[in-house]
Amino acid sequence: MSEQAAASVEQIVEKVWLSIAERRLRPGVQLKEEQIAAIFQVSRARVRRALTELERDGLVTIIPNRGAFVCKPSVEEARDVFYVRRTVERRVVERLCTTVTKSDIKRLRDHVAREREANAQSATTEIIKLSGGFHLLLAELIGSDFLFTTMRDLIARSSLITAVYRNTTHANCGPDEHADIVEAIALKDSAKVAHLMTHHLEHVEAELDLSDIRDLLHDLRSALA
Ligand SMILES: [Zn+2]
Repeated sequence: MSEQAAASVEQIVEKVWLSIAERRLRPGVQLKEEQIAAIFQVSRARVRRALTELERDGLVTIIPNRGAFVCKPSVEEARDVFYVRRTVERRVVERLCTTVTKSDIKRLRDHVAREREANAQSATTEIIKLSGGFHLLLAELIGSDFLFTTMRDLIARSSLITAVYRNTTHANCGPDEHADIVEAIALKDSAKVAHLMTHHLEHVEAELDLSDIRDLLHDLRSALA
């Protein structure tokens, strides 16, 4: 989105979120209000609202009198997030096995099919959104506001962690393990699905390089434009 129609708060949040997930905006980069306002053709007040939302999602740190910066999660925080995800997502899939309906299974299979399609086309933006979206959809289907909100927060933080610590060119979980999880849910095999989810998250965490911090700073305009 370059200089075109004025963007909404949501669109700005989405664009910054994706730029972080796609590693065009790196941790530590300052998000200058004035510059973002010019890029999106909006008021600084609107940019401030977007930055406040991003801070709430754990993606941005706002330092008084200094400005907003893309968060730099520590290695400890990265490990904590995956530890919590293993616990929460095990609960999510176990509960889903007791409530799952045919239409839930259809939605899950359709989602995995979209992931496969995005992978085949190497559509990075879609791949990142869909692979996080799969985990969110599981939480959505059990109808618990608490677990859904918790997962939303964990997925946003995971995206940032993946953006910082990703060791490979893989931008996603990969649809195969997701497909296995869906089929175990369809069989209501809660022991198997809990095992598959644990294994999947360990696999995702193992692809991160939690031993060093890369520190390439990118220009704000080229990242967002
Ligand atoms: Zn996944």
